[in-house]
Amino acid sequence: MDIKKGFIESVGNTPLIRINSLSDETGCEILGKAEFMNPGGSVKDRAAHYIIAEAEKNGLLKPGGTVVEGTAGNTGIGITHICNAKGYKAVIIIPETQSQEKIETLRTLGAEVKLVPAVPYTNPDNYVRVSERIAKETPNAIWANQFDNLANRKAHFETTGPEIWKQTDGKVDVWIASLGTGGTYSGTALYFKEKNPKIKCIVADPHGSGIYSFIKTGTISVEGSSITEGIGQGRITKNMEGMPVDDALRIDDKECLRILNILLKKDGLFMGGSVGINVAAAYQTAKTLGPGHTIVTVLCDGGARYQSKIYNEEFLKTKGLI
Ligand code: PMP
Repeated sequence: MDIKKGFIESVGNTPLIRINSLSDETGCEILGKAEFMNPGGSVKDRAAHYIIAEAEKNGLLKPGGTVVEGTAGNTGIGITHICNAKGYKAVIIIPETQSQEKIETLRTLGAEVKLVPAVPYTNPDNYVRVSERIAKETPNAIWANQFDNLANRKAHFETTGPEIWKQTDGKVDVWIASLGTGGTYSGTALYFKEKNPKIKCIVADPHGSGIYSFIKTGTISVEGSSITEGIGQGRITKNMEGMPVDDALRIDDKECLRILNILLKKDGLFMGGSVGINVAAAYQTAKTLGPGHTIVTVLCDGGARYQSKIYNEEFLKTKGLI
């Protein structure tokens, strides 16, 4: 018998999917870790599970308690599912610019949702800063603090990395991912480097993020913007500190959308925006390296969360992307 005990045991152990269209074209194996198949629909179920489990273990989260978090949506969705399964309350602070689908999902799941304006981290009204304040003011509550809580990258060091290692028999040449908190990229990269320091770890960054410039020049400079959600960062979070990086690529929204269209129409994969950035960077790397390499990246979440934006012609027209 192979039975998972509820939501928690269903997190992780996702398939590794060969992107047939781009693998056949480039002669490389371009593989995507199917994180959209997690029970809460995204890669962030892993971090949500580890953060809550660690808070329970440390005695910080007690029965009937509340989990407070600032999120672009997916972490909040993962947290709310787990809170429902374990009898906690979820309070989620999300910038009003994030997709309506994610906001509505959070409400349907039963989170207390607070919308805040999209302002930089340095502004006290920033969603992360508001979530910290609310957690402090709420009795019997913890602040999940996904950006600086190392339980986040530990989830990927202990699960995502080992799963990919097993699924490929250790035959990985390149690891590529974009960063929001940095947990997925850095936890997996740290694991891979421990197993084989020759594995190249490459950061994929959208416009409107400072990570690419930080890696290339040592200073964070943010230019332009992106329609992708959940990725890009204007500071070095604790989850990014000490992460191995061999190179960085900056991918624009036009290329991201071109790749999302290929994934949908040729591979039958209906994917979220950050997947377009990740797979575009994997494709570019395959072209640079030439045939015969195995390149692994992440399929972070599905396209249904962005139907009103990335998959909506009217929205794309307003952004000059059609
Ligand atoms: N893609 C999506 C859609 C996300 O929601 C996130 C998390 N914000 C990421 C990628 C990045 O993951 P991480 O926080 O582990 O860097």
